[in-house]
Amino acid sequence: MNTPSKKLGFCTRAIHGGLEPDPGTGAIMTPVFLTSTYVQSEPGKHKGYEYSRSGNPTRSALEANLASIEGGNFALAFSSGLGATNTVLNLLKSGDHVVSGDDVYGGTYRLFRNVYEQFGVRFTFVDTSDLDALRDAVTPETKLVWLESPTNPLLKITDLSAASEIAHSAGALCCIDNTFASPFLQRPLELGSDLVVHSTTKYLGGHSDVVGGAVVMNDPEIRARLAFFQNAVGATPGPLDCFLVLRGIKTLGLRMRQHCANAARIASYLAGHSRVEKVYYPGLATHPGHKIARKQMSDFGGIVSLEVKGGLEAARKFVSAAEIFALAESLGGVESLIEIPAVMTHASIPAAERRKAGLADGLVRLSVGIEDVEDLVADLERALELSGG
Ligand SMILES: *Cc1c(COP(=O)(O)O)cnc(C)c1O
Repeated sequence: MNTPSKKLGFCTRAIHGGLEPDPGTGAIMTPVFLTSTYVQSEPGKHKGYEYSRSGNPTRSALEANLASIEGGNFALAFSSGLGATNTVLNLLKSGDHVVSGDDVYGGTYRLFRNVYEQFGVRFTFVDTSDLDALRDAVTPETKLVWLESPTNPLLKITDLSAASEIAHSAGALCCIDNTFASPFLQRPLELGSDLVVHSTTKYLGGHSDVVGGAVVMNDPEIRARLAFFQNAVGATPGPLDCFLVLRGIKTLGLRMRQHCANAARIASYLAGHSRVEKVYYPGLATHPGHKIARKQMSDFGGIVSLEVKGGLEAARKFVSAAEIFALAESLGGVESLIEIPAVMTHASIPAAERRKAGLADGLVRLSVGIEDVEDLVADLERALELSGG
């Protein structure tokens, strides 16, 4: 079972991919190697591990498993999604240009604008669901195209095969933040992208009990450069965090099926509600990216965004009135969450930029969990009624 063929089904790979029973004891679960250092038999002679920032067996197991489920040759694990993103950005130097989606995770935007711009890396933000806009934005200096699809929180869809081709024709790498879809629904490396980034905090961990990140890739040279930065910069995860992500991945397929089924039901319920102005969900036939989502994803995910009638004031009442939907940032756990991006997850993006990207102040984002969907619909029904009062 060490490197299962890519032909094995997703759930089989999620449970077994890259993993072996512990050779010393037969333990079926990967041991948590809580050690910082490793004894050497002679100076410089060791069993592959010297120091746990450079390598740890629990982390190695997670990395092998992540590579298997994303259909990539290599993966590297990090202490957070932003730690993973930062390590990809370490590939750049002053004067390089990046084209980024204009609706990316708020912390990604903050890292680009408030950290990398001061080092002379230049960024252009465009709506990458419009391939002509992407084509116009790349230049000979463009070294990286950074995309999310579906985006956060507007759930815009970019054609990932076409976007990868545009990046490659400019000589740039194409990196997809695949956190929202998870590899169960979408595998960007199979669609031509060079790098996949994850916040494993979300669907991969799946239980809101760990913060982590990952980069998955095929090219051994890129892998070697990123592994160098992983050790040199040091945003590495602890072994217990690696164990929690590995454990979460085992049920990813089951959870994603339920997240998608619940989200689809909630999206169609909201679309027919008189107090709802607009619903954003790629599974709705009216969504502008629906056809492309059908082509490149196996289902439409667990995130639904909506605008309630009455703007920010009504949105505040709505999110406060919900009970099963907990008012919190983050997403992708088994429990349903509700939030207002403009004042919570995306507050670090200036208001003018947010509005330009189409993010209304009163937009509400739901991370639909795997509770009984009738209970979730009843909770929203009650909260919507109270949003008008
Ligand atoms: C949460 C998130 C991140 C950042 O990950 P952390 O683990 O919080 O550092 C990046 N991208 C997306 C799409 C996210 O949802």
